[in-house]
Amino acid sequence: MSALAYDIKSSTAVVRAWGGNVKVRLYLHWPFCRSRCAYCDFNTRVASVGYQEAYRTALLAEMGMWASMLGRAGKTIRSLYLGGGTPSCMSGDETAALLSTAAERFGLEDGAEVTVEVNPATWAEDDYARAVFGGANRFSVGVQSLHDGTLRVLSRPHGAEEAMEALRAALDSGARSVGADLLYGLPAGCEGTFLDSLEKLMGLGIHHLSVYALSPGAKTPLARMAARGEVALPEDEAVAEEYLAAVEILVRRGYEHYEISNFCRPGHRCRHNLAYWRREDYLGLGAGAHSKLGGLRFWNERSLLRYLRTIGEGRLPVSGWEVVTGEEAREEMVMLGMRTSRGVSERTVSHSSGRLRELARGGLLDISGGRVKLTPRGMLVSNLLIADLLWS
Ligand code: SF4
Repeated sequence: MSALAYDIKSSTAVVRAWGGNVKVRLYLHWPFCRSRCAYCDFNTRVASVGYQEAYRTALLAEMGMWASMLGRAGKTIRSLYLGGGTPSCMSGDETAALLSTAAERFGLEDGAEVTVEVNPATWAEDDYARAVFGGANRFSVGVQSLHDGTLRVLSRPHGAEEAMEALRAALDSGARSVGADLLYGLPAGCEGTFLDSLEKLMGLGIHHLSVYALSPGAKTPLARMAARGEVALPEDEAVAEEYLAAVEILVRRGYEHYEISNFCRPGHRCRHNLAYWRREDYLGLGAGAHSKLGGLRFWNERSLLRYLRTIGEGRLPVSGWEVVTGEEAREEMVMLGMRTSRGVSERTVSHSSGRLRELARGGLLDISGGRVKLTPRGMLVSNLLIADLLWS
């Protein structure tokens, strides 16, 4: 084991990298789901209550290790995000207890954003209010569609009405902000259901919307069904049209398009996710969680068993790390910054300024006020464009 690895595990390098006045963007990972969706290849599993309880104990222990390592002075949570997986496999009370412990151990900045991801199949109405009592002020509800047929194709564990009830409960809970995720680019037979779901969500007064193109992981049931011809996925052009239609509708209805996939009413941007796109520091706890502190990036054991075992031995479950060089930092800044409506400074990509103008003439980039941004059409091919800007 190198000196750096030793240092991370004994925490001194991390504390040095971070400096004395620690401001934490804290992410807590919950790697369990109630059931597996047909398109998802995330590293999550369906597990017994006992297994989840053991994980919860380990997560609290990891939190304790970091909190005591960083000491009390100056550390503050700027935002807290409980994601997964499905954190709402825990009850509202258990969620509240986890959030309260994090706040107590690290200190919570006034007005800090505290988000919990919720699956509509999990919580009763009062669970939302209980989580708010524990400090949650933002819910991100995994809706994906408000049509029963589409939800069945996706093997979601809830129906459309259940999703509507979850959203109403979240809106009535006292949380400051409620967001929903929706999928577009749905299989044949689900045409029209994405834009209709979008309308219903706007009608409910949802503050934040994330829209993602359905992209079944290679070994998922939906990908296998598509390979066998049992399900027909739409052509790229149809998917692009749907995205552009959503952008047009949402912007017309007053939602800010602040990141490729994210829209919100004014004042409801997800501050935690914005911090990732701005390359701010964050600490991720839980199996497979990633962290970035200064020029140091490190990640936890992905395997649940190894994560539990390492914590059980009283050690931090860090399994890998890298030092980010100046050039890598610049590339990250462009890759992440170009995802957002702020874009990046023209100077950051000035080595390809001729190419920039060409892409702007083609309607893919917007260059103004010394900043370069993707247009909605550019967002459709963001990966290609960003590679072009960085390496052409
Ligand atoms: S899509 Fe969400 S709820 Fe479904 S299996 Fe993946 S992480 Fe779990």
